[in-house]
Amino acid sequence: MDTLEIGTAAADSTPRPQSGPASYAMLINGEWVGASDGGTRTITDPGNGDVLATVPEATAEDVDRAVAAARKAFDEGTWKADDNAQNRAKLLLALAASIRENAARLAELDTRNNGKPLAEAEADVSDSAACFEYYAGLATKVMGETVPVPMNMLSMVVREPVGVAAQIIPWNYPLMMAAWKLAPALAAGCTVVLKPSELTPLSALELGRLITSLDFPPGVVNIVTGAGEVAGAALSAHPDVDKIAFTGGTDTGSLIMQAAARNIKRVTLELGGKNPVVVFADADLTNAAEWVAFAAFANQGEVCSAGSRLLVERSVHDEFVGRVADIARSIKLGHGLAADVRMGPLVSAEHREKVESYIEIGKAEGATLLTGGKRPEGETFAQGNFVEPTIFTDVTPDMKIAREEIFGPVLAVIPFDTEEEAVRLANDTEYGLAAGVFTRDISRGHRVIRQIRAGITWINNYHPTFNELPWGGYKKSGIGRELGKYGIDAYLETKQINVYLDEAPLGWYVS
Ligand code: NAD
Repeated sequence: MDTLEIGTAAADSTPRPQSGPASYAMLINGEWVGASDGGTRTITDPGNGDVLATVPEATAEDVDRAVAAARKAFDEGTWKADDNAQNRAKLLLALAASIRENAARLAELDTRNNGKPLAEAEADVSDSAACFEYYAGLATKVMGETVPVPMNMLSMVVREPVGVAAQIIPWNYPLMMAAWKLAPALAAGCTVVLKPSELTPLSALELGRLITSLDFPPGVVNIVTGAGEVAGAALSAHPDVDKIAFTGGTDTGSLIMQAAARNIKRVTLELGGKNPVVVFADADLTNAAEWVAFAAFANQGEVCSAGSRLLVERSVHDEFVGRVADIARSIKLGHGLAADVRMGPLVSAEHREKVESYIEIGKAEGATLLTGGKRPEGETFAQGNFVEPTIFTDVTPDMKIAREEIFGPVLAVIPFDTEEEAVRLANDTEYGLAAGVFTRDISRGHRVIRQIRAGITWINNYHPTFNELPWGGYKKSGIGRELGKYGIDAYLETKQINVYLDEAPLGWYVS
């Protein structure tokens, strides 16, 4: 497989790859292969429109082959064995080291493919390596228990890998989502078919290259590339897949859950959010303003946990929103590889159109466009999918921009008067992924955060994420948890074993 030869980040505003487009293959049963019908897809840089690579467009037949390879590696191989746990741990650590050795290249690739600023991609790569290190540690700590029961019985509970896991991921954190999925599954002893987003498959394929340079048995990790409606749907419905782990939109999650129901696959879903950030008048408004801007605009706002609904106590509303708007206006936009850029382009032209349509809806609904709302002007931005950081005030809770996930740099601000109202507004959503509260009153901060129905929460900060802690949502934001010790549980079955220690006969039929 050719790889993209990318050099160090150029300082100009529209960096270009130093060699032409690369031609990638998919990883099936330890081999790099093209699609069975020869189909390919072109991958472009959303910051300047450059063609980066072509990748295979998997067919349902390719998915069959990948699942068969994973099935064979699971059923007939030694990967899952208890006495292979140390080996799994060693391989995951070696993979983490390899990611760190290739960190600059991987970060640059994610920036070129997704658009995010290089500093964010570098943090993603470091977190990805740390995720493999964390689960390398857990691979040897999957433990059972013995349980006292009636009868002269030695009763044990053991944990066993769930089997073949299909893993479908989105485009907003291409490498990190792959790491979050692969690391716990492999630590548990599962075999995997991973499908990256059709928009951003490159760093996952490079990760596959690092995997094949280590001693992972063939078929343990398979990576298929292509459309959700074809490859993703084939994986979701496949009878030989035991578990499906999905991160993406809530509507897609619902389709996957329905397909998975046919053979009662285990399902974990990490879906969308419309996450509230509550700012009380007593908060440190200077610090809160920067966190709130970070909550809304980090990664171009293309974050499931983005703080996209700002609830501000009315007495400080104008002052506080003014501070956030000043920060928004100061954010440097540009190609993610250009110096000092803090916001890159949106991932695709189609996605920018979707975000822009919400901006139009916000105006039509009667919200006030405080800042942003348009494409930045100038040569630097001409070929990329840029949108300015955008803030709407005078938003009411029934407006679409207050209810629907926009998944872009658009912040909707709603004022409140009392703590009870803040909690009610925060929970007035079908989602329940993340939430933040800012106040100097730690009792109130704790009281409010406990009343908000969301799985990932922060007090006096927003967005820091740790491999050690569970990630996932309430309500329509998903089912199950990734990361932490909870993340490996999602790839384990639980079995009871009862050993009869008595020599006395059963005495039920035979007296
Ligand atoms: P998406 O749902 O369109 O696609 C996600 C993945 O699903 C892609 O790999 C896609 O090819 C695949 N897919 C699409 N249709 C499918 C189908 N019918 N069957 C099987 N697979 C299919 O989402 P996206 O646009 O890539 O990502 C944005 C969404 O992801 C947002 O809603 C965001 O909130 C969510 N997200 C959630 C988390 C989380 O941890 N909760 C993290 C990141 C992103």
